[in-house]
Amino acid sequence: MEKAMKVSIDLDKCAGHARCFAASPELFDLDDDGYALNAEIDIPAGREATALEAVAACPERAIENH
Ligand code: SF4
Repeated sequence: MEKAMKVSIDLDKCAGHARCFAASPELFDLDDDGYALNAEIDIPAGREATALEAVAACPERAIENH
């Protein structure tokens, strides 16, 4: 069985652009100022492509998939 995908967000690097949320609103939670709330997110099966779009969309390179 394939290992489930996760992404981690370096919350210190996050600058509140909310691009991750724009790429996949169902995966990312933001605070009222547009900063990512969760440092670790489990990506449900079938959502890997949108998760990778969010990784690519972050201008701070704060999101990593693993
Ligand atoms: S796109 Fe990057 S910098 Fe912007 S809110 Fe998401 S993690 Fe933070």
